[in-house]
Amino acid sequence: MEWRPPTREHQDRLMKSRVALVTGGGSGIGAGVAQELASLGHQVAVLDRVIEAAGEVADQIRASGGTAVAVRADVSDPVEVAQAVDEVTAALGPVGILVNNAGFAKDNMVLDMPLDDWDAVVATHLRGSFLMLKATAPAMREAGWGRIVNISSISALGDDDRVNYVAAKAGLEGFTRAAALDLAPCGITVNAVGPGVVHTGMTTVSAARAGRTLEQHLELQAKTIPVGRIGTPHDIARAVLFFAAEDADFVTGQVIYVSGGPHG
Ligand code: NAD
Repeated sequence: MEWRPPTREHQDRLMKSRVALVTGGGSGIGAGVAQELASLGHQVAVLDRVIEAAGEVADQIRASGGTAVAVRADVSDPVEVAQAVDEVTAALGPVGILVNNAGFAKDNMVLDMPLDDWDAVVATHLRGSFLMLKATAPAMREAGWGRIVNISSISALGDDDRVNYVAAKAGLEGFTRAAALDLAPCGITVNAVGPGVVHTGMTTVSAARAGRTLEQHLELQAKTIPVGRIGTPHDIARAVLFFAAEDADFVTGQVIYVSGGPHG
């Protein structure tokens, strides 16, 4: 096909404003993703189980001239998820971009891991992503356009002392590929971004667990990363924006690791 420079009409289409919902948007990577989506002109729903945190991020976005609302839900609870998505739809319109980011770790050696910690981690990452997809994808199908981006982790490839988290993230990558197949005929793509070490609330918890100060922990971690530094939420957001782009419809069922190197 002959290449032609993009027309004004094409450029306008690429800048289309969508309603984007980011789970776990009240902190860390989710907050960075919400801010980047808003900076492209999308209307953002910041969902978190801590409403004060979601409210702060939504306030920052509005203060910078963007559009944002904050909603509370625990993503593993089907009733709260349905209510939150109804709230977002009433305030901004149907969700076009879903970022399944909410998550946390409860690490332990497999033989010492309590069943409750297994269930809690799997419920948020895996059941939560399923519930959020179920609550938002019907409207995307109706519109004939949708983008779902799941936040996985390089831990999906294997990691010690966190069998619940590794299993949940590996499951999320399988879920991504399977849902991509189901939703491809509806104009909905489903992809995953797998961060390496990113400095967020989660890093503070990991440092404490390893018995190190945050500074010691970050310095040690940086030495293991080929590019020589820890990631930021905005590094991760760049990859999310790629998958969420208006014309990224030929990319689906993929996982991209954003980790400062092939083994970062
Ligand atoms: P964070 O603790 O800074 O933020 C997580 C947010 O999710 C919090 O605001 C929390 O309240 C919310 N949340 C947790 N469980 C929830 C639930 N059930 N329902 C609704 N909200 C919930 O952590 P982060 O590092 O920004 O993590 C974001 C995502 O990135 C997670 O899925 C995590 O597994 C993934 N990740 C993080 C790193 C890292 O190094 N920080 C690396 C790889 C993957």
